[in-house]
Amino acid sequence: MMTYTNQYTTVTREALLAHVQSKMSTKRFKHVLGVEKTAIALAEKYGSSEEAASIAALIHDYAKELPMSEMKSVIETAGLNPEMLNFGSEICHGPVATELAKKDFGITSEDILNAIRYHTVGAVQMSLLEKIIFVADFIEPGRSFPGVDTARAIANQDLDEAVLFEMKHTLTYLISIEARIYPETILAYNAWVTKGKKN
Ligand code: GDP
Ligand code: FE
Ligand code: FE
Repeated sequence: MMTYTNQYTTVTREALLAHVQSKMSTKRFKHVLGVEKTAIALAEKYGSSEEAASIAALIHDYAKELPMSEMKSVIETAGLNPEMLNFGSEICHGPVATELAKKDFGITSEDILNAIRYHTVGAVQMSLLEKIIFVADFIEPGRSFPGVDTARAIANQDLDEAVLFEMKHTLTYLISIEARIYPETILAYNAWVTKGKKN
């Protein structure tokens, strides 16, 4: 499929695939491959590096199935905000994967690291690659939920609108199940919902 140059990672795509696969269920690995395919297509469409999109996509859920005890140890060692521990694996796995990406795969590109870090919550300011990974994670072919086809159609027209649609959808869902909202989720939503509008 794609041969990596050595500019973003010290490993080959094959080695990265094998390592990622060894850390997760078959179902999640299939999701990861779906995100990669979608992210590469969005990178081609919107003019971003397809190699960076592939690498960020393959690593984005690398820490998702790590035990909380290991997440905690990574968070403490790296000096990440310990508040995220109160939100469990859902909120910790992006930031933790970012630290493992540096250690296990020699990733130094801040853009790739941020795309992994913010893939669950998004951020107030997002680069093109961050938007691509955030949206690809939501619309990859294996996703099926009410609204996913709308999200796919929007992503094909306007990437910023797709980011906002996803933030609204996720927040609405979380409120409907009375989940606690991570403060950064609200900060990101507030920034995106007012984009292009006067306050
Ligand atoms: P996945 O890792 O591919 O399943 O997808 P994500 O990384 O995007 O999301 C992981 C989970 O985190 C999803 O179930 C989201 O609904 C959930 N999530 C996102 N933001 C928040 C939040 O602010 N609070 C809580 N409790 N969960 C959140
Ligand atoms: Fe995730
Ligand atoms: Fe994911």
